Amino acid sequence: MVKPEGVIWIVTARCVLSCVHCYAATYLGEEELGVEEAKGIVKGFAELGATYLHLTGGDPVAVRARDYLELARFAKDLGLEVTMFTSCVRIPKEFLEEGPRVVDALYTSLDGDSRELYEAIRGSGSWSRFLDGYRRARERFSYIHVNVTVSRLNAVRVAQVIRFAIEKLEPSSISLIPAMNCGRARLSGVHVDRETFVKALRSVSEVAQELGIVVDCWCTPFAHLVGKGLRPSTCRGRWVVDLSPSAKLLLCDVTGVAVSDARAQGVEEAWRRYVSSDVVRRALSIPQACASCRYLGSCGGGCFARSFLDYGELDRGDPLCPFSAQPSSNRS
Ligand code: SF4
Ligand code: SF4
Repeated sequence: MVKPEGVIWIVTARCVLSCVHCYAATYLGEEELGVEEAKGIVKGFAELGATYLHLTGGDPVAVRARDYLELARFAKDLGLEVTMFTSCVRIPKEFLEEGPRVVDALYTSLDGDSRELYEAIRGSGSWSRFLDGYRRARERFSYIHVNVTVSRLNAVRVAQVIRFAIEKLEPSSISLIPAMNCGRARLSGVHVDRETFVKALRSVSEVAQELGIVVDCWCTPFAHLVGKGLRPSTCRGRWVVDLSPSAKLLLCDVTGVAVSDARAQGVEEAWRRYVSSDVVRRALSIPQACASCRYLGSCGGGCFARSFLDYGELDRGDPLCPFSAQPSSNRS
């Protein structure tokens, strides 16, 4: 049986913000596990061969820092690489002191280069709290990654957001991800369409070349085909599993589709069901829209979750890809 490479766990969907593009809000109704039970899940995946754990949300640092620090420490003691997400708007002192000893990298988000834009996305009063929290974290953590979610609200300024992040925040690395047609983005309609996203990618490519940096483009397997300085990333061919708060194994966390359940079935059985499930096999098959694409070898076939979210089918092709024969339907 194939081994899990890593685990991305939305340990909590709770947060102190209510960002308009948040996909994790989908999981707000799910029960979070207690620390001891969560340790059992992490141990199970480590025994199956996972080497990496990312604790995300929601904002695990803002809502349950002590518990998730304990979980991170446990994972670290098992030999896992451990990373953690926070919005930076509420970082308890204990986390600032203990986190750098336990967490290999801290991940955060920045979606605006001004108070006005940032707060239009993340809510009133959040900008100063972010800047203050980020600066305190930057002093303590040796590795901080900044991710920019590209939505309809910031797409035309996303290059300036990247520039602001690089010049003012000095992160260890930087990435972007398109807001997708799910969660609050679906309700608010701020997810991006193909044309808007490709324009945003081109503008980021220009600024990346000017600054001499590489921007990781999460969930954008065709990014390198759009411009220089953009590094694509895809989940295809990588057995990194997403977990919901109650430890359900998700097809991908933006789909909300649970394939199996580590809590109910045990980690090993849930993993066996996951890797042998029809839905995962269908998701990973090459879509018809990509079959004759000359870039298939370097792209791998686009994002199946966006196909599912926009067309209701896993294998219709990536609606954000400019090389796909499929219409961009996600504004409809
Ligand atoms: S299915 Fe799409 S959204 Fe999900 S991890 Fe893969 S590329 Fe990202
Ligand atoms: S058409 Fe498919 S394989 Fe070709 S670049 Fe787009 S997503 Fe990738």
